[in-house]
Amino acid sequence: MECPACRQELIVVERERIELDCCAACRGLWFDAGEFDLLAEIHGLGPAERDTARFALAPIQERPRLCPRCDRAMDKAWFDEPHTILVDRCTHGIWFDRGELGHALESVRLGRSDARSVMVSFLGETFRRPA
Ligand SMILES: [Zn+2]
Ligand SMILES: [Zn+2]
Repeated sequence: MECPACRQELIVVERERIELDCCAACRGLWFDAGEFDLLAEIHGLGPAERDTARFALAPIQERPRLCPRCDRAMDKAWFDEPHTILVDRCTHGIWFDRGELGHALESVRLGRSDARSVMVSFLGETFRRPA
């Protein structure tokens, strides 16, 4: 499977029994829909909150990225509330950019403690560890 951002081959890594696909070049993370749902559930997000189809659609300012599963253009959507993390979304899963998560980690350090922020901390951890 190729990285939707830089087309390198993604590497499978396992964290807390979740399998995710990580790009060693740009350090982005891909979650298959089921893996994301499981991770969100572990972090205490309710069924409505972890339903990626309900994420608010964001305007696309860049060329849409292609889903690594189906090769179709993905939507840009907001992962959190207030809107700090943009993800690329397909029915097959979601993609997090390293840069997007970096911004989000700042807001977590500023004291947010909702379930999504806890999840962002987990994702930040995953970024810091070598793949
Ligand atoms: Zn990449
Ligand atoms: Zn897809």
